[in-house]
Amino acid sequence: MLNKKSVDDINVKGKRVLVRCDFNVPLKDGKITDENRLVAALPTIKKLIADGGKVILCSHLGKPKGEPKPELSLAPVAVRLSELLGQDVKFAADDNVVGENAEAAVAEMKDGDVVLLQNTRYRAEETKNGEEFSKELASLCDVFVNDAFGTAHRAHCSNVGVTKFVDTAVVGYLMQKEIDFLGNAVNNPERPMVAILGGAKVADKLNVIDNLLEKCDTLIIGGGMAYTFLKAKGYEVGTSLVDDEKIDYCKEMMDKAEKLGKNLYLPVDTTIAKAFPDPIDAEIEVSVVPSDAIPADMMGLDIGTETAAKFADAVKSAKTVVWNGPMGVFENPILAKGTIAVAEALAETEATTIIGGGDSAAAVNQLGFGDKMTHISTGGGASLEFLEGKDLPGVVAANDK
Ligand code: ATP
Repeated sequence: MLNKKSVDDINVKGKRVLVRCDFNVPLKDGKITDENRLVAALPTIKKLIADGGKVILCSHLGKPKGEPKPELSLAPVAVRLSELLGQDVKFAADDNVVGENAEAAVAEMKDGDVVLLQNTRYRAEETKNGEEFSKELASLCDVFVNDAFGTAHRAHCSNVGVTKFVDTAVVGYLMQKEIDFLGNAVNNPERPMVAILGGAKVADKLNVIDNLLEKCDTLIIGGGMAYTFLKAKGYEVGTSLVDDEKIDYCKEMMDKAEKLGKNLYLPVDTTIAKAFPDPIDAEIEVSVVPSDAIPADMMGLDIGTETAAKFADAVKSAKTVVWNGPMGVFENPILAKGTIAVAEALAETEATTIIGGGDSAAAVNQLGFGDKMTHISTGGGASLEFLEGKDLPGVVAANDK
């Protein structure tokens, strides 16, 4: 799945190149509030412009659910991209995405010109991978480039369907970077490899736990999901988040770790409070107790100080670290200490450090450690599926080398 042709393997001079980007940026009152995704897409776009391609960009934005929603128009993206690229990005404002405006704009393109299509999810067929919309998209181009890792775990018209009707389909630089970093970290890591999993529920990450246990040397479990493991060990976990249906699964994973000779580290102490903070960032009274001494009326909301030191220590000897999911309710400063300690340990190590997207990426950036990590994935769901060892349809669809 990983040996795919990229924009470096093709000649786009004079050709119409459709590029599926991830321009799913947060908007407030029509203004882009975080342009990271636009900036991340620039290397591929600039390369195609420099090579003399006619660059047609497309993306989804939010969830318009198959109909035009003015507040989810990509128009603001065209404006900001024009500024970032220093050249005009013509916006083809068709409610049906591939309509009169798009066709006329593409017909008029000169080499190095850029056109942006309307939100692909204005079309109901997009998320169903329908043939007709896939064909319409393909009719606009000679070459297809997929640079949208964030949707690579979905088979939609604009990233998978379209490739059936275009001879040349390759990946862009952003996609290549994700495949290289996540792929190597999971399938060909420099050892020892330490995987750190956290976040709310065991059930969300069943396959991730199972797959990473096979790939890593040490698996560290913190966050809300740790309490189901602690309960599976026979500990009292009070009112902490527990998934009773997954207790047997946790036992299986602990047995599996032992059989494979892998280290499986759980919190040895935990930060507890009377109840979940409400609002989430409210002032809260906490104490730290050993993991086997949580009072029945208390709730675990972060790893404890000894655990934080132990987890940080495990990171020190690693050559590769993969991290997905916070160690506690990091949205609250009092309960963010465990997540900060782990982020600091990752920031200080010489090891390759990979952060799975979504909440973990947000936590690392919000806490100010973003630039200290080797790679922060741009895709939450997609990076999780990668860590589960699944093939991503958006990657599979590109031509092999
Ligand atoms: P994504 O899947 O988007 O990458 P993630 O894997 O980083 O996200 P989630 O599984 O979504 O993380 O869980 C993150 C949430 O888990 C945070 O909102 C955090 O407050 C919550 N959380 C962490 N520890 C606990 C805990 N002990 N009790 C309850 N909630 C917790």
